[in-house]
Amino acid sequence: MQVRLMDLPPRIKGFVTMRGGEPVIVLNARLNYEQNLKTFLHEKKHIENGDFEKCDADQIEAEEHREEG
Ligand SMILES: [Zn+2]
Repeated sequence: MQVRLMDLPPRIKGFVTMRGGEPVIVLNARLNYEQNLKTFLHEKKHIENGDFEKCDADQIEAEEHREEG
């Protein structure tokens, strides 16, 4: 597993993608360390659940992770 920081649009917190058969967590370089740590742990769950290629924008999160609060 790799972690990358990228300049993403402000509403996107991060996402998971596959590169060479390895999951890569991409975090938003514009957000602070605390938020990125939260996003990192969240994206790790996506990897454990096997749901990649999902973009975690604020709105998508509200729709898809209602059960997480
Ligand atoms: Zn998510």
